[in-house]
Amino acid sequence: MRRRIVAGNWKMNGTVADLATVAEISAAAKTAACEVVLCLPATLIRPARNLVGMELGGQDCHARAAGAHTGDISAQMLRNAGAGWVILGHSERRRDHGESDAQVAAKVQAAWEAGLTVILCIGETEAQYRAGETLDVLAAQVAGSLPEGATPANTVIAYEPVWAIGTGLTPAPEEVTRTHAFIRARLSDPALSILYGGSVGPANAALLRALPDVDGALVGGASLASKTFLPIINALEIAHA
Ligand code: PEP
Repeated sequence: MRRRIVAGNWKMNGTVADLATVAEISAAAKTAACEVVLCLPATLIRPARNLVGMELGGQDCHARAAGAHTGDISAQMLRNAGAGWVILGHSERRRDHGESDAQVAAKVQAAWEAGLTVILCIGETEAQYRAGETLDVLAAQVAGSLPEGATPANTVIAYEPVWAIGTGLTPAPEEVTRTHAFIRARLSDPALSILYGGSVGPANAALLRALPDVDGALVGGASLASKTFLPIINALEIAHA
């Protein structure tokens, strides 16, 4: 049985005032029949860790353990702050910071060395989708940004079509099925969990649950409030047969 995971990505949102929401989500996570992870802004990881027992993650890390890298944060620092997870290769990092597959792969290695579980994001842009390049893009991203050594314990893949992130658009269920199966066939360990991400909300989560290669979700906007995140957890927590 593959790991079933619902992860929230708070992106650049949240201050100490939002720790109450973290506490609400943590309370629900205790009884969920799946793993629930909240990937918080780095500034909130230690205060959240002092407050709750749930799984916490960061949203990026540097490939080096320490050094002259102003504004960056290392995997060890995330771990020290109380994180057990980190999102790497998110399309917003690839777009805003020009992260290449090779740089993402180096970060994955660093995260593993620090004992973090990686949520590795891959996905095609709208232009690539329209050009029919989705599978080629995904094959290249898996080959280029996932180093050898991935196991179900240290890595989860998140398929996030860039055009579906924050837009309210989602691929058709059969497209998600086809894409996830394609990704799984390219993994050295097919037992890795593959999450779907991109405009997941309470209304479409149940639909995802029925898809055979979808092992959970990576949720952006809807993870910011318990009233939208908890129904997603409820919809996705039970594994398909
Ligand atoms: C994300 O950016 O990881 C994401 C899935 O965002 P949203 O759910 O808001 O589309």
